[in-house]
Amino acid sequence: TVFTPYKRKWLERLFDNQQKDFNRFPSENSLSNLNPHAGSYLIPELDDMGFQASQKSIPRKEIDQDIIRSYGDKRDFPALKATSRLGLHLRFGTISIRTVARTAIEGSDVFLSELIWRDFYSQILQHFPHVEKNCFRPKYEYIDWRNNETEFKAWCEGKTGYPMVDAGMRELNATGFMHNRSRMITASFLTKHLLIDRRWGEAYFADKLLDFDLASNNGGWQWAAGCGTDAAPYFRIFNPESQQKKFDKNFEYIKKWVPEWGSEDYPKPIVEHKFARERCLEVYKKALNP
Ligand code: FAD
Repeated sequence: TVFTPYKRKWLERLFDNQQKDFNRFPSENSLSNLNPHAGSYLIPELDDMGFQASQKSIPRKEIDQDIIRSYGDKRDFPALKATSRLGLHLRFGTISIRTVARTAIEGSDVFLSELIWRDFYSQILQHFPHVEKNCFRPKYEYIDWRNNETEFKAWCEGKTGYPMVDAGMRELNATGFMHNRSRMITASFLTKHLLIDRRWGEAYFADKLLDFDLASNNGGWQWAAGCGTDAAPYFRIFNPESQQKKFDKNFEYIKKWVPEWGSEDYPKPIVEHKFARERCLEVYKKALNP
């Protein structure tokens, strides 16, 4: 239930005991590996199953080695195309996790660590299935969410008046992808600044993300709301402005997704940061120390 020791064990098993097995597995799953008779079945076409072609651009499944090599330095800046964009392929099994893990082992410890996060959340969901509906830590169930529907709509549409939050939401709405840094910022904003139940945001992400994965989405949202496996205290509340200074200091990401930012058409902040922070601390404190 704690990531760091889990990761240590994961790496130990990989390098000490599992090396042979790991190499033995085929790098791509194919139907013929799984079932020798698969070729003789009639597989329905996507049209037959009711799918329709989408205009959204789908990232390539080839792993970009340059991205993996510079991943550790660049992955936190949402204006850069510096993460693998393989989430969608891992979701649908169009690339094998073993192929990606091999590249990670050779190319970047930080990237490998992210793949371990994926496994971590997957086994959390398996062993603690209550997380799908409820908090990993039960005492967080008592938070008195405000659940203001107008504010939720503004968050969904990227109209909160906080450009880092709005850029993330608009990236998601337009592309079906959102950078990890923005996922953390938008999720923190919804749960902490607006005090809206994380399940609302989680469901919205599930609806929009092309790389949606129940375990990782749930883990990410529980982390943001402070009710998950992470021991970091709930009073870690992201300041969207400091996040912008650190991760989008030249406003590239913001200008790309919020073109009217800085003009009269851009909305005023939906809530004042300092006020929201204090309000959140009070509500969480009350729930945890009734
Ligand atoms: P890269 O940074 O290139 O990482 C490679 C792969 O590692 C990813 O494709 C993913 O499979 C895995 N990975 C990376 N970071 C994480 C992480 N923090 N937790 C678990 N796995 C990770 N990831 C999803 O795959 N599906 C989701 O529905 C999802 N929802 C999220 C919701 C929130 C609120 C947060 C904070 C994070 C969420 N993540 C989710 C994790 C992460 O944001 C995405 O995996 C990542 O942004 C996908 O982009 P990428 O493929 O370029 O990832």
